[in-house]
Amino acid sequence: MRARPYHVVIIGGGITGLAAAYTLHEAAAKNPSTGIALTCSLVEGSERLGGKILTDHFDGFVIEGGPESFLAQKPWGIELCERLGLANSLIGTNPEHRKTFVWLRGRLHKLPEGLVMGIPAKLGPFLRTTLLSWPGKLRLAAELFIPSNPRPGDESLGTFFRRRLGREAVDHIVEPLLTGIYTGDADRLSILATFPRFRKMEQEHGSLLKALWHAKRQSRKADNAGVISTPFVTLREGLGHLVHTLESNLKGITVLTGMYVREIGRQDEPRYDVVTNARSIAADAVIVTTPAYDAAGLLTPLDPLLGEHLRGIVYAGSVTISLGFRKLDLRHDLDGYGFVVPRVEHRELTASTWTSSKWDHRAPQDSVLLRCYLGGIGRERVLERTDQELIELARDELRLMLGIDQAPMLARVYRWPRAMPQYQVGHLDRLAAITERLARLPGVFLAGAGYRGVGIPDCIHDGIAAAEDVCRYFDKALPTFV
Ligand code: FAD
Repeated sequence: MRARPYHVVIIGGGITGLAAAYTLHEAAAKNPSTGIALTCSLVEGSERLGGKILTDHFDGFVIEGGPESFLAQKPWGIELCERLGLANSLIGTNPEHRKTFVWLRGRLHKLPEGLVMGIPAKLGPFLRTTLLSWPGKLRLAAELFIPSNPRPGDESLGTFFRRRLGREAVDHIVEPLLTGIYTGDADRLSILATFPRFRKMEQEHGSLLKALWHAKRQSRKADNAGVISTPFVTLREGLGHLVHTLESNLKGITVLTGMYVREIGRQDEPRYDVVTNARSIAADAVIVTTPAYDAAGLLTPLDPLLGEHLRGIVYAGSVTISLGFRKLDLRHDLDGYGFVVPRVEHRELTASTWTSSKWDHRAPQDSVLLRCYLGGIGRERVLERTDQELIELARDELRLMLGIDQAPMLARVYRWPRAMPQYQVGHLDRLAAITERLARLPGVFLAGAGYRGVGIPDCIHDGIAAAEDVCRYFDKALPTFV
């Protein structure tokens, strides 16, 4: 038995850092004679925990500044909520408004039903859609006969989907839906790092359409077996509730907010010295969960090549603007989840969520809440505008697209500079290089949105995995320390 417990420092108090801390808290709570004796500090540079997750409450409105929901299909988000006793707070999207639109050529077009990430799993609605011309529909249907790419290497989302589905389907449907997730550029994002399942479909079935039709038959069987699926879920109180619940479940972990890590120094035993603006903290292991560019700053002095690889991960900036209106004042019925705006339209607005239609409990009974998205890769100049200018810009777009003239009763602007990592072509090779360099720094672990998935469930999974790696590392490291 060691004379003192191991000390782990987690840098960054976003969802990744919090999930890592919670996992270590559970490990530490085990009987030290069977588990690992460890203590942990979580160090967050800003005054609040949650990172990109930020929920505000104003006069009965629940406003998400960053993420609004997460994918149910990836289990780690729901599992964490369940472990924290939040299962009853989980809600799905409102089924009665299940419609999404695309702004194209001066009007909103309903997305055909049965699309899986923009690809039709049902033929009828796709044939009737006004989003594609007949030549565009024929080209998409020809996907059944387009041979698979024999080269196994990476390619951009744009190249992949244009090759399979044709330009029009990509420009009008696939691009705004898929790249909206990354606020990215389809011609730079990597198919292997973002949506490897489509490449796998191509390889296994020779066609995305065939693969989706096959999957639909399988899921019909599952539906018949009583399996219920909700694509996106959130918490009734807003995602900030997950952050607060995690925070209150970190008993025994020292949570330090307003402490920005400036440097990680190397020591003998313990191995590292985490230097913050306030003090230094000795650490046997460090989990860095900051954005990759911040991690680059911290790790370059320890391994310049690692820093270089990390700095190569590009981030996009964006803005979200939430607007609240009185229901009576509004001429639009907001019957849907919202709409996306394809890049080919060259508008400032990239998407709008009709928040109070999509989720219950987001606005008071007599009001509605909408959220507008601006910016994205290559369009970050919009972040230079003042809040008032941004609100006016959003209102101009809503006037044109939804006919909303009324002044909002509530307007909130959230700026997200360098917030969304872009998994560009070659991302997996970069990741392999990062992993290889990291192996030279025993006790240093990297996790977060910059690496293996940007969504909340991915970040939770990555944080948990890093914490488990730390426990395994101590297990292995034990003989050298006793
Ligand atoms: P972060 O949340 O960035 O946390 C990192 C933390 O590290 C920050 O708190 C930062 O202050 C801190 N930090 C940085 N440097 C230092 C330092 N030197 N010392 C101490 N602390 C430091 N995902 C979904 O699943 N669904 C969505 O609907 C969705 N929508 C989104 C909308 C927007 C506008 C944005 C920006 C993102 C969205 N995402 C969504 C993505 C998701 O929110 C993020 O990928 C995820 O929250 C990132 O978590 P993280 O912990 O890895 O990083």
